[in-house]
Amino acid sequence: MDEWKQTTVPGVYAAGDAATPMHNATLASAAGVLAGVGAHQSLLR
Ligand SMILES: Cc1cc2nc3c(=O)[nH]c(=O)nc-3n(C[C@H](O)[C@H](O)[C@H](O)COP(=O)(O)OP(=O)(O)OC[C@H]3O[C@@H](n4cnc5c(N)ncnc54)[C@H](O)[C@@H]3O)c2cc1C
Repeated sequence: MDEWKQTTVPGVYAAGDAATPMHNATLASAAGVLAGVGAHQSLLR
């Protein structure tokens, strides 16, 4: 998974409990922001 939460499958982003062993609401929320920005940026390219 890259820094914008894109998985090894191009165009697929993952965040939160489904993507990390660290189950924490704040971390899940922050990862969701990164994944959202990453997905948005990928659509602009
Ligand atoms: C008892 C308990 C106490 C906790 N206490 C704390 C705490 O004090 N502080 C803290 O920071 N964290 C705490 N956590 C952890 C925190 O709740 C999670 O890390 C956080 O909610 C993860 O958010 P998420 O969005 O990744 O996943 P979730 O909140 O689990 O959201 C996933 C969503 O996807 C839905 N879903 C699943 N499969 C499908 C499907 N096939 N199709 C459509 N929808 C689907 C689910 O219904 C759910 O709504 C606690 C967890 C538990 C269980």
